[in-house]
Amino acid sequence: MTTTDTAAQSQPFQAEVAELLNLMVHSVYSETDIFLRELISNASDALDKLRYESIAKPELMADGGEPKIRIVPKKEPDTLSVIDNGLGMDRQELIDNLGTIAKSGTKSFLTKLTEAKDGAGLIGQFGVGFYAAFMVADRIVVTSRRAGSAEAWTWSSSGGAGFEIAPASEEDAARVVRGTEIVLHMKKDAAKYLEPYEIERVVGAYSDNIQFPIELVPEDGEPRQINSASALWQRSKSELTPEDYAQAYKQIAGAFDEPAMTLHYRAEGRYSYAVLLFAPSTKPFDLFEPARKGHVKLYVRRVFITNDADLLPSYLRFIRGVIDSEDLPLNLSREMLQNNPQLAQIRKAVTGKVIGELESLGDKDPEAFGRIWDAFGLVIKEGIWEDYERREKLLALSRFTTTKGENRTLKQYVEDLKENQTEIYYLVGDSIERLKSNPKLESAAARGIEVLLLTDPVDAFWTSAPLDFQGKPLKSLSQGDVDFGMIPTTEETKDEPEKPETDEALTIAAIKDALGDKVSDVRASQRLTASASCLVAGGLGPDRALERMLAQQNRGAASKPILEVNLRHPIVAAVAKANAADAADLSLLLLEQAQILDGELPEDPAAFSARLNRLVLRAL
Ligand code: ADP
Repeated sequence: MTTTDTAAQSQPFQAEVAELLNLMVHSVYSETDIFLRELISNASDALDKLRYESIAKPELMADGGEPKIRIVPKKEPDTLSVIDNGLGMDRQELIDNLGTIAKSGTKSFLTKLTEAKDGAGLIGQFGVGFYAAFMVADRIVVTSRRAGSAEAWTWSSSGGAGFEIAPASEEDAARVVRGTEIVLHMKKDAAKYLEPYEIERVVGAYSDNIQFPIELVPEDGEPRQINSASALWQRSKSELTPEDYAQAYKQIAGAFDEPAMTLHYRAEGRYSYAVLLFAPSTKPFDLFEPARKGHVKLYVRRVFITNDADLLPSYLRFIRGVIDSEDLPLNLSREMLQNNPQLAQIRKAVTGKVIGELESLGDKDPEAFGRIWDAFGLVIKEGIWEDYERREKLLALSRFTTTKGENRTLKQYVEDLKENQTEIYYLVGDSIERLKSNPKLESAAARGIEVLLLTDPVDAFWTSAPLDFQGKPLKSLSQGDVDFGMIPTTEETKDEPEKPETDEALTIAAIKDALGDKVSDVRASQRLTASASCLVAGGLGPDRALERMLAQQNRGAASKPILEVNLRHPIVAAVAKANAADAADLSLLLLEQAQILDGELPEDPAAFSARLNRLVLRAL
C-alpha cells in the first residue's frame, strides 16, 4: 500500500454522475421505492459473482457465512443498511463503480432526460442503479471488502460533486468480513423506509424473486426472511401468475415497464435447460449502441455464469431473461462460451422458440405484438439480412405500411395478389407521404397492385438481399424493369390518355442525345401513367435508396440511373418535335423533375431554375 492509499482522499464524480445525481435529488423520478430494488439487485449480482468465482477458488467462501442479503433499519440516527456477503469491491473498484457510469450513450441520454417533460418514463429505460439511493438518503457510506482480501475500504458521499475514499476503520473492517455494507442516512421525508412493514412491502413488490435469502433485521425482534428466494424459472408454469412473471421480468431485466411477451419452458432431451425470456414493451435508450450486448443471462444449475454469452442473435438483442442449463460445466471459460457445441445447440433452439412465440403472439394478441413491433421492428428487420436460414420466418413476422394500409403482413399481401401478379412490390424512401406521391406508383395504382412503402433506414439494407416470400420474389419499383403487362387495369383508370402520334424511337433517341452521360439509359416506362418521368436503378446492384445512403456516407459513388419516360405525356412527346435547344431543355427538365420526386436535388439548382424560367416565359 502506498501512503496516498492509506489516507482519506476526496475525488470528484465523473461529470455524468454529478449530472445524474442532480437530477435524482431534484427528483425527476417520483417512485422512490425503486432505490431498494436497485441496491438489492446489486447485492444479488455480487452474490452471484462470488458463487461463480468460488467455483475455481472455494477459499473465497471460507469466511463470511452463507450467501444472503440483510436489511437493517435503525432510528436515531435514521439509517437503513443493505448488507451482502458477496464478492465486495476493492479500493479501485469502489472508485470506478461508484464514481463513474460505464454505460455507453449515457451522455446523450442525460441530455434527453434534462430536456424531457416525462423524465420518469425515460429514467426507467436507463436504470439509475446505485445512484437512486440519493433520492432517499442525503449521505451514503459504503464499506466493502473484496472476498479474500485483507483490506476493507470505506466510500462516502453526500451527493454533490464527489466522494471520499479511505481505509475502513478497525470497527467497520471487523464487521464487514466479506462483501458490502451500504448505510443510507435517510432524508427526513424518506423515514417511512425505516418501518419494517414498509420494507416488506417494497421487497415483496420488487424483489421477491431474488434467488438469495433477504433478511429483515428489525431493531427489536428476531431477523426474518422476507422473500421466497427461489429461482422462478425453475418453478412450474402452473403455479405462477402473470403478476409473478411481471415482477420477475422487472427484477431480472432491471426494467420498469410490463413485459409484452413471456416465454417460459423447460427443454428436456439431449440437453436439459430452463428458459424464461421476456420481450419488453418499450424501447431501451441504448438499443442502437454498438456496444449493447445481449441481455440473456446464462446460469448453470442455478449459478449465474455470465451476461454476455450471445445466447440469441443480435437482431433479438431486446429480449431479456435467463437460460439455466443442467448439463454445462460450471467452469466455462471465454473460449468455451464461444465454441461450445451445446451452447450453439441451445442458441439455435431458443432462437427458433422465440421467433415461433412472436409469430403466435402476432396471431393471438395483435395488440401486444404491435407494441413489440413498434419498439423493436427495426431491430428484427436486421435479421432478414443477417439470418439467411430464418429469413422467411422473419419476413412473416414483419409488419408493413403499404398502399393498402398499416400493419400489413406479407401473408395478407400474398392472399390479396392481383390476377397474374407474381411479384411483391415495394418502394424505399424517406417518408410515407413522399412515397405515396411518387410517380413510380402510378401504374401499380392503376392496376390496384399493393406496394410496400418502406421508410426505415434499415429497409434500404435488407431489401438489397435477394428475397422471396412464399415463392414470390420481392421487387423494387425503383429498380430494373417492371412488367405489369399481364395484370389488368381496374375499371376507373382504363381511359388512360391515348398514346400521341410520335415515333417512340425518335423521342427516346432525342432525350438520350440531350442527356449524354448524365444517365446510363433512357427508356419507355411501364410504371407511369400521369407523370412524365422517373429514375430507376439498373437491374443488378443496389437500389436507388441504398445507393443514396451509401453516397451520403461517402461509401462508394452512386452509379448512373436509368431515366424512364412516359411516352403518353405531352412534354415527352414534344421533345421529338422541338428544335435542338428546346429538346435539351425539356430533356434536362425531365431528369431534374425525376430527381426532385426522389427527394434529391438537381445537380445544378441554378441552371435548373434558369431553365424552368426560360420555358415558362416562353409559354407566357
Ligand atoms: P449497474 O448495477 O447497472 O451496473 P450501479 O450504479 O447500480 O450500476 O452499480 C455500479 C457497479 O457497482 C456495479 O456494476 C457493481 O460492479 C458495483 N456494485 C454496486 N453495488 C455493489 C455491491 N453491493 N457489491 C459489489 N459490487 C457492487
